[in-house]
Amino acid sequence: MEVAEAQALLRDGRDLGASVVCISGGEPFVDLGRLARIIQACRGAGFEEIWVFTNGFWARSRPKARVTVEHLRDLGVTKLFVSADSLHAPYVPTADVILLAGTAASVGLEVKVDCRINPLAANSDSETIQIAEQMRQIPGVQVQISLPWAIGRASSLFESVGVDQHTPEPTTGFSAGTAELRGPCNEIWPGGDLRVPGGVDVDTEGYVNLCPGLAIGKIGDRSLREVVGNYDWEAHPVVRVLADLGPVGLAMQAVARGYRPRSRYASRCHLCYDVRKFLRPAFPEYLGPANCYPEI
Ligand code: SF4
Repeated sequence: MEVAEAQALLRDGRDLGASVVCISGGEPFVDLGRLARIIQACRGAGFEEIWVFTNGFWARSRPKARVTVEHLRDLGVTKLFVSADSLHAPYVPTADVILLAGTAASVGLEVKVDCRINPLAANSDSETIQIAEQMRQIPGVQVQISLPWAIGRASSLFESVGVDQHTPEPTTGFSAGTAELRGPCNEIWPGGDLRVPGGVDVDTEGYVNLCPGLAIGKIGDRSLREVVGNYDWEAHPVVRVLADLGPVGLAMQAVARGYRPRSRYASRCHLCYDVRKFLRPAFPEYLGPANCYPEI
């Protein structure tokens, strides 16, 4: 996202009453100069809580890590989210990420490490557990261990272990975990719920999302203020169903259009994502961007 685009969003966000800016990716540190200018724009717009997500690929030495986190802190960043687990380890050395977390905490940043257990690990993901334990030893670092959110590319992890194989024959029911799957969606990751969202995510294509791949509109012809201001959950053909009936209700509608339920789902969100992926051609303006629905 260009700095000028970010500035316009920040102004609108401020006017809409937002108090926190989260900068995520992809990987925002790929262009550190642009990241720094966007953080400055956040401060310029009056935001005091500025959070940044990273996989830590850039923290290749202690001096480099220290200079960069001090720079972030001085620009106004308050919290750093760091990914560290066996899924990231082949690409980013764990030692570098541990160094980063410790350095960031030592200069006064709030640090939260996100460790995701790999569902493909045969028995248990001991590598991720070990990384989490090492992180927990670092003063000032919070650690969270969880399964990946079974949406987007991560859904393939669950499909690979047989959790989500499509049933060989068409069916109108769910063969496992039915009770867990039922119920409306009443919590979304920016906070609040689908009826009264606590925030939105704006991606580089301009989609304004409540959940990855679930859009309430697109900026471009309209401003963020207009998209959010005009949001009416009851008029949104997907949100309305998710808020009232949940992913099972959406699946019922999808079955009528030819969707074949899987034999099992990893979670309610996985069911939601799988159905939304099927429905995307019918609601392209509401189910985007495309990179949230990769062909797996
Ligand atoms: S994936 Fe669906 S059920 Fe899960 S939080 Fe998002 S909208 Fe709600």
